[in-house]
Amino acid sequence: MNNSDQKPPTPEEISKKLADFMKSNFGGQVNFSTFPGMGETESTKEEPSEDPPESPANDQSIFDFDYRPKDIKRHLDRFVIRQEEAKKVLSLAVCDHYNHAKYLRRLETEQPGASDGVEFAKQNVIVLGPTGVGKTYLVKHIAELIGVPFVKADATKFSETGYVGGDVDDLVRELVKRADGDVELAEYGIVYIDEIDKLATKGNMMGRDVSGRGVQTALLKLMEDTEVSVRNPMDIQSQMQAMFQMRSGKGPKRDTVRTRHILFIVSGAFSGMEEIISRRIGAQAIGFKAVAGGGDESETLFRKVSTQDFLEYGFEAEFIGRLPIRVVCDPLSASDLCEIMEKSEGSLIRQYEREFEAYGVKASFERSALEIIAQRAVTEKTGARGLMTVTEAILRDFKFELADSGLSELVIDEVLVKDPKRALEAALALCEDSEAQAAQNEIHTFAHHFREQFGLELRFTTSAVRLIAQRSGDRNMSALAWCEQTFGDYQFGLKLIQKNTRQRVFELGPRAVEDPEGFLSDLVLQSYYAAAENGASEPS
Ligand code: ADP
Repeated sequence: MNNSDQKPPTPEEISKKLADFMKSNFGGQVNFSTFPGMGETESTKEEPSEDPPESPANDQSIFDFDYRPKDIKRHLDRFVIRQEEAKKVLSLAVCDHYNHAKYLRRLETEQPGASDGVEFAKQNVIVLGPTGVGKTYLVKHIAELIGVPFVKADATKFSETGYVGGDVDDLVRELVKRADGDVELAEYGIVYIDEIDKLATKGNMMGRDVSGRGVQTALLKLMEDTEVSVRNPMDIQSQMQAMFQMRSGKGPKRDTVRTRHILFIVSGAFSGMEEIISRRIGAQAIGFKAVAGGGDESETLFRKVSTQDFLEYGFEAEFIGRLPIRVVCDPLSASDLCEIMEKSEGSLIRQYEREFEAYGVKASFERSALEIIAQRAVTEKTGARGLMTVTEAILRDFKFELADSGLSELVIDEVLVKDPKRALEAALALCEDSEAQAAQNEIHTFAHHFREQFGLELRFTTSAVRLIAQRSGDRNMSALAWCEQTFGDYQFGLKLIQKNTRQRVFELGPRAVEDPEGFLSDLVLQSYYAAAENGASEPS
């Protein structure tokens, strides 16, 4: 079963075989040279190439690590919405880990060998939380900020294929690849393994795999202090590649990667864990006092997880023992998803705006549209990933049809989200209607002036633009003049609204064109209600 019994050839052996092959087939016509550090053949010898110079950038990034937990948290806040506890705990774990690594490195330069005697419990982390709530996103941004290579894999990958020898070691080799062959930097990388719960072996729950225990043991070895060969001994191709790299002098300088300073972060949804925790807490509660309330939310329960619970779930004690830091990521509600779209620097909305812009369309999303998208995404049960699924389903045809159609602006509002097909037809009709197109340009000019003058943004929907084109045409007026006449005093009402609700962007649909005064007074009224509700209204 285990083909590691059959010893794979070493690079030296491959090199020798190739040299023999060349010689017997081509005689002296072709030279096949050997590589520095390898067994020599009879053919010509090459001067060993010089080692590539040390990358100073690496020295500056991780080995001069000088971040404080608050710096990291602040960086994460720019991208990750919610998950406050995870942001704090991870920031702290990362700082402790790299400060310690830096300390050992300094010790080692002052006194070689001294660092081996220093005891340190590595801050490997286990994250509990459902899919799509930002676990990978957090780790990826941490790795990017501090400048270390980062590798992600699913634990299921190891169990499904039937675990063979070096599989988990590939994670470490991948770090070397991500570090562009810089083994030293790879030794300070971050390995992130998702779906770790699938490695649990006990019980009769779904998805348990007999090989889970084997993978736990292999991972345990990595999490401790071990050495991993830079080349996969079972992979002839990588052996060959290494050979050619060495020949060109570009290969890694070292043969093994030490895992002592690699930070491991593992995560999983741990379905079924709630019952284990509540059983334990329930049992304890009987011994002390009755549990207050009962109905604990699963995320609150997860925060009470103990080593004992992990063992009962099916983990080996040694494995869990190597993951001392525990943290919970919470599920995201519709309003969290809305906030992600509005505030995260990595927001999907920015991505869509950029994509439309590349096709000559200025797209903007109304809050009302974001709310509907967020509500639909929640039902997908894939966390923030659902946002992409939902938005793509709504906007794909728009991107396709409107690219270079001449439409310069697309307001993605509630109406569009609720009936995308009709909204697309309206947008396409606008493209074909040259009068409406001309009107749109003038409406743009009006909105631009309005923003410059009053700091308020007016966004006209496609159907509003078409209506304005008609109305102004009926009166033999330009669209610009019509807007100035109709909305010329709008700033007074809108300023009131801004005072009440801090709203700065206003969507004007067909009703604003048909009944400008009624529309505005309704908006003003609503803003007073909203302010009263929020307790934010200031007595004037
Ligand atoms: P998982 O928790 O399964 O690892 P990810 O971190 O890969 O999920 O999230 C998928 C994507 O969803 C991310 O790339 C990011 O764009 C978005 N996302 C998920 N959670 C958040 C969050 N809390 N804040 C901002 N964006 C998020």
